[in-house]
Amino acid sequence: MFKITHQELEEKAFSIRRDLIELIYRARSGHLDTSLSLVEIWLGLVYSDFFQYDPKNGAWEDRDRVFLSEGHACPLQYLINAELGYYSVNDVFTGFRKPKTPFQGHSIRDLKCGLENSNGSLSIGVWQAYGHSLETKRSVFCIAGDGEFQEPSSQALLSVPHYLKPAPNFTLILNDNHLAQDSEVDLGPIADVAKLYNWQVIQIDGHDLNALGEAYLQAYNEQDRPTFLVCRTIKGKGGDPENEGRLGHHGKPPQNDDEYRNYIAGLEAKGRV
Ligand SMILES: [Mg+2]
Repeated sequence: MFKITHQELEEKAFSIRRDLIELIYRARSGHLDTSLSLVEIWLGLVYSDFFQYDPKNGAWEDRDRVFLSEGHACPLQYLINAELGYYSVNDVFTGFRKPKTPFQGHSIRDLKCGLENSNGSLSIGVWQAYGHSLETKRSVFCIAGDGEFQEPSSQALLSVPHYLKPAPNFTLILNDNHLAQDSEVDLGPIADVAKLYNWQVIQIDGHDLNALGEAYLQAYNEQDRPTFLVCRTIKGKGGDPENEGRLGHHGKPPQNDDEYRNYIAGLEAKGRV
């Protein structure tokens, strides 16, 4: 299912969470809680057996694509792409949110760094990704937030396979952590709506690596319909337990050394999440 062992994946999840906390605290800027909620989702995808990429040739035509729609999760994207060899982790630590680097507060399309799309305006990424999936035979995955899926401009995408053109190589991954910037999120029967519009719908625990691996394979093998992969996650997962799944921490880095230590202590107490 994966290119590396389950234990190695868990170790990577742990070290990426530690780097996220460190990176965002040092910069005093960045969306830590959203990034923490996506760690298993992103690692499970890029380490799936089928997933093709070439860090020496980011524009390789036969690469599988990962688009990011909830662009504020880019700190995780930058660290994952460092893990994959597009550049070094040190490049991210020295360049994050500095002028004239690829590591801005939202991603800017840069294929040599593995960044498929520019983002920032919520819901734009899901349309970029779906459109691109019609232009390539390779798999296209797009990570979106439940907050942005409150927007009609995001939900409208769900009708496209029914009314326009199904893209069986497309997978929409919903980071369903039930929290937006400053409110709780309840998307209601969105999974049922997607089924009506001709999506393969899979609903899983977004922190369960085995479930993720199986779901990605199922999406990859689907021949007729796009896949809507609803991943139930916890915002802030694996950091300060006082902040996990709670409002009030969106885009808020640890404010001082005590808060930073609480995140690191929370991570270390749990070990592999
Ligand atoms: Mg959310």
